[in-house]
Amino acid sequence: MAGRILTEVAIVGGGLVGCSTALHFARRRVPCVLLEAERCGAHASGVNYGGIRIQGRALAELPLAERARRRWGRLDRIVGADGEFRATGHLRIARDEAEAATLERWALEAARHGVRCELLPAEVLRSRFPWLGEGFAAASYCPDDGQANPRIVTPLFARTAREEGATILEGRAVVSIERTSRGFLLRAEPELEVEARVLVNAAGAWGTAIAAMLGEHLPSEPIAPNMLVSEPLPFKIEPNIGMAGPGIYLRQVPSGSVVFGGGRGSVDLERRRCRPLFATSLSTIEEACRVVPELARASIIRTWAGIEGRTPDDLPVIGPSTVVPGLFHAFGFSGHGFMLAPAVGIVLVELVLDGHSATSLEGLSPSRSTSVPAIPATT
Ligand SMILES: Cc1cc2nc3c(=O)[nH]c(=O)nc-3n(C[C@H](O)[C@H](O)[C@H](O)COP(=O)(O)OP(=O)(O)OC[C@H]3O[C@@H](n4cnc5c(N)ncnc54)[C@H](O)[C@@H]3O)c2cc1C
Repeated sequence: MAGRILTEVAIVGGGLVGCSTALHFARRRVPCVLLEAERCGAHASGVNYGGIRIQGRALAELPLAERARRRWGRLDRIVGADGEFRATGHLRIARDEAEAATLERWALEAARHGVRCELLPAEVLRSRFPWLGEGFAAASYCPDDGQANPRIVTPLFARTAREEGATILEGRAVVSIERTSRGFLLRAEPELEVEARVLVNAAGAWGTAIAAMLGEHLPSEPIAPNMLVSEPLPFKIEPNIGMAGPGIYLRQVPSGSVVFGGGRGSVDLERRRCRPLFATSLSTIEEACRVVPELARASIIRTWAGIEGRTPDDLPVIGPSTVVPGLFHAFGFSGHGFMLAPAVGIVLVELVLDGHSATSLEGLSPSRSTSVPAIPATT
């Protein structure tokens, strides 16, 4: 398609955030055009670890995460398939007493939000999870958390958005944006102009650059979480696993392969490329084998990385721009936005069309100071 399109809403970015936003605009019968530089789900949304967890999140994210969790549970009714979402629980492991105290603090706060979280002392860990390594101090377990298949979820949202009337254009990189009397004029390559009254910046790690095109400074740095997957082992690890502090995360898919990650690879934002690093993969394997010793028997069949934007306080930037009327941001998910994205789309649409959302975004808005108290998150 070449030429010029006039629409109500333009969305930059076809990750899960952009596609879920497009779907909900379509459901409200609002014309919208989504521009994706590559393919929908080509970056973080399609290559991430697939962890769907509320556990360990910063308190500011909890209202959004709870709404997202409800939506994961009925994905089949939203996009016609469940995205392989399974509520397997999430086990968060403490390596020492300090980490155990972190788990306790979080569980206490989370209980006030009605999040179910069970604290498990060291002596019950091996009997309950016989595949777990020895020497851990404690763990906490959230039964409502789980996992999903990132490869299929974003295309499901993109397909449903299209079916319901959204225009989703792939292979269209937005290269400039200017303000007009009607709103915004976006120029995309190759050969397309889109004029819209409202603009949604869902450009992931490129969100800072999109904001800068309109003169707004919203800092984020690109990171590249480093991932691996093993050959299939007999299936036994039901929960999604993470550590109480920085460290590995690990899940076994029903085919038996163990998907795990930790640390960072390298990233070149301009060329839109990233790669896993051998040294990172090696230390991730070592730690993963301490958590699940049986993994030492398996071959690693693939490593990869994905590009993600990380903000100074590790929290996403969601909501109306404080300097440009009609501009809404949703980026900087800092390594944990896959779980949130199905709720981010509907909340953004409520903000644009209704002027408010019942889901609190306090602490996440573009206007926040970076002093929001954050509980360090694991993926
Ligand atoms: C390896 C890895 C593991 C992760 N694990 C988890 C996890 O287990 N659980 C979890 O909740 N989160 C996880 N995350 C984070 C999660 O994947 C992201 O927070 C989430 O997918 C962000 O979605 P998004 O739509 O904002 O960004 P993206 O999926 O990155 O989409 C942004 C899109 O914008 C497009 N774009 C950028 N600039 C332009 C432009 N100028 N014109 C047109 N299009 C443009 C890009 O091509 C891209 O497709 C992980 C991330 C990575 C990388």
